[in-house]
Amino acid sequence: MRLGAHIGIAGGLPEAVRQGKAIGCEAIQIFSKSPQMWEGPPVAPDAAAAFRAAVRAEGLLGTAVHHGYLINLGSPKAFMLRRSRRAFLDEIQRAELLGVDGLVFHPGAHLGSGTEAGLAKIVESVRGALEAVPEGKVRLLLENAAGQGTALCSTLEELQTVLGAVDSAARVGVTLDTCHLFAAGWDFRTAEGYGQLVDRVEATIGSAAVGAFHLNDAKAPLGSHLDRHENIGKGEIGREGFTSLVSDARWSSVPGYLETPLDDHGYDRYAEDLTLLRSLVVPTRRGPPPALRPEPSRSDPSEPRPKSSRARASRPKGGGAA
Ligand SMILES: [Zn+2]
Ligand SMILES: [Zn+2]
Repeated sequence: MRLGAHIGIAGGLPEAVRQGKAIGCEAIQIFSKSPQMWEGPPVAPDAAAAFRAAVRAEGLLGTAVHHGYLINLGSPKAFMLRRSRRAFLDEIQRAELLGVDGLVFHPGAHLGSGTEAGLAKIVESVRGALEAVPEGKVRLLLENAAGQGTALCSTLEELQTVLGAVDSAARVGVTLDTCHLFAAGWDFRTAEGYGQLVDRVEATIGSAAVGAFHLNDAKAPLGSHLDRHENIGKGEIGREGFTSLVSDARWSSVPGYLETPLDDHGYDRYAEDLTLLRSLVVPTRRGPPPALRPEPSRSDPSEPRPKSSRARASRPKGGGAA
């Protein structure tokens, strides 16, 4: 995996690249504007060029923009949906200017209209975006949700529903967030558990659909549906939980971005998390060894489902991106 982190752009776009490189990132994710706003100042062409040049100069192997939080591509409300789609298109165009590999986005929330209706809106939204930017090179990456509230795509099956309907593997893929997977009920802390997860990934979206990871430990217990990021090794997932993932050769060219808490320590925290993750890599593993691939049990339920009883929960304040 190409290990990296979510870096702030307060110091400017090229500076984000240099800051990421300085703390050991091979890949960086950024916001292209304030994530709490519908609109931001346009990306100046010279700033975009400077960003691209810095990415090349520093030799980064992966780049992504994370979209803003106000967008809901699954909204049942016509006005909000229109506004979200307009903002999403703007995010895509900004990402295209910056020349990043991926645009990470939260698929959306159905707000009570139901899973099927919400997923249909998301499919329609993504299709519309693809048509609006026919020559687009940035891969749109649906991020798996933790399953809070009415957020959609906390299951691999829902992600596959969207991917299958959009049917554009080159332009649309998935970002898998470890904290969200764990919160949604996936226990990959053991080799066996990890094996079951990757088997299910292969059986649904397929590993080629995975365009990025978010590497976050979890503050909340397994299956909590709470989106609470923790530093690597300090949460409920723990060090061992990341070993199989970062050692798996099938992800060798996939970027993994930290969104772990920085507290008052700034990027030193990221540097520690990156060092720890690198120490967990078992270098000789070429793909999952037999021990990681238990015989799939036919009686296993396909995937844990989020509990529907959770109504509303506040947005996490993790490492800058959820
Ligand atoms: Zn996110
Ligand atoms: Zn999160």
